[in-house]
Amino acid sequence: MKINNVYQSMGLSPEVIQFAERIEKRLKERFSDIDRMAEMNQLKVLKAMQDNQLQEAHFAGTTGYGYNDLGREALEGIYASLFHTEDALVRQQITCGTHALNVALSANLRPGDELLSPVGKPYDTMDEIIGIRPSKGSLAEYGVTYRQVDMLADGSIDFEGIKAAITEKTKLATIQRSKGYATRPTLSVAQIGEIIACIKSVKPDVICMVDNCYGELVEELEPTDVGADLCVGSLIKNLGGGLAPIGGYIVGKAEYVEQCAYRLTSPGLGKEVGATLGITSQLIQGLFYAPYVVASALKGAIFAAALYEELGFQVFPSSGELRHDIIQAVNMDTPEGLCAFCRGIQAAAPVDSFVTPEPWAMPGYDSDVIMAAGTFVSGASIELSADGPLKPPYTVFFQGGLNYAHAKYGIMMSLQSVVEACDIKL
Ligand SMILES: *Cc1c(COP(=O)(O)O)cnc(C)c1O
Repeated sequence: MKINNVYQSMGLSPEVIQFAERIEKRLKERFSDIDRMAEMNQLKVLKAMQDNQLQEAHFAGTTGYGYNDLGREALEGIYASLFHTEDALVRQQITCGTHALNVALSANLRPGDELLSPVGKPYDTMDEIIGIRPSKGSLAEYGVTYRQVDMLADGSIDFEGIKAAITEKTKLATIQRSKGYATRPTLSVAQIGEIIACIKSVKPDVICMVDNCYGELVEELEPTDVGADLCVGSLIKNLGGGLAPIGGYIVGKAEYVEQCAYRLTSPGLGKEVGATLGITSQLIQGLFYAPYVVASALKGAIFAAALYEELGFQVFPSSGELRHDIIQAVNMDTPEGLCAFCRGIQAAAPVDSFVTPEPWAMPGYDSDVIMAAGTFVSGASIELSADGPLKPPYTVFFQGGLNYAHAKYGIMMSLQSVVEACDIKL
């Protein structure tokens, strides 16, 4: 039982170690299903690289304008193959997921058009892009209107409401796969397909865009396999595999991706410019690692769900549910519980393990937020991290883990911290 001595020397009590081991034993079958999915997705990624004849020469970067950057073209070819789309825009000049979403929306909407969210209010940082909260440069300022159809009280999709909300002005539907900071269920790829079919049955030319953040490689199919015209995400989440230092992607139909390229760089320039400065190999190798990184994060999420569920906390999704993203939400009920959870995750990090996370007012969010992350890539939430807004029910959103051993240790440390702060008996 030597590993227990190591765990104890790294801050865990025998009670927490025993409790965690007992919970983990129950999860063997789930974990082997996840390994199977990772194996499948690894082959898909590998094939995309082979089909695009990835070669050493692609790892050389360009500078300046970045004309004829062969590595960038290979990278975008690989993403298009992986998502089975006509085209892809995968760029380090896309600074984050929010930026990628803003590019996709503002590139494909024109004054007088209406944007539809058929699954409730989107992620907090979208508020200012759309103009739900007034903001400089929002779509609202450019005369793009917005309409939203909430999910029904039981978490199901309001298909009738969606049909009724589509008018001749409806140009684009933004469908968020992951729940983000909401407590609604994450959508499965199959559900996304049903929403798209519903929208297209009323108005076939509505551009159906999916915010794919945190959902990539969790299932066998991606939204572009079930009718999505555009799919958007961040490279410091799932698909960067922890190696991508920056970036975002937009994949989909060529005409819509082209609009995005013109918006990101300039009309007339589009995809032709954008030097890679030598980081193409990190973006590609990160994608190569991504299936197993996502699997580690999923195992961590399920482990956390099972652990906190056993202690009577409300968890979303539950430990037994099928997963459609890597996020685990746990209602900690009190600010002390939320902050203790985050302190434990922070203390388990490889980087900045000695600092104490404190709540603060983050740009783009409407309440104070506490964030725990000791990451190699600043703010990368594919690395083990936890965060939550300081408002009832004090939900902590937990995600990431570049490998399972670290995810497991981080969750055990969170429990240690919560047990001490909230006086819980195991
Ligand atoms: C993370 C996330 C975003 C925004 O991405 P950033 O990289 O943080 O800007 C948008 N939507 C969802 C669902 C997300 O999880």
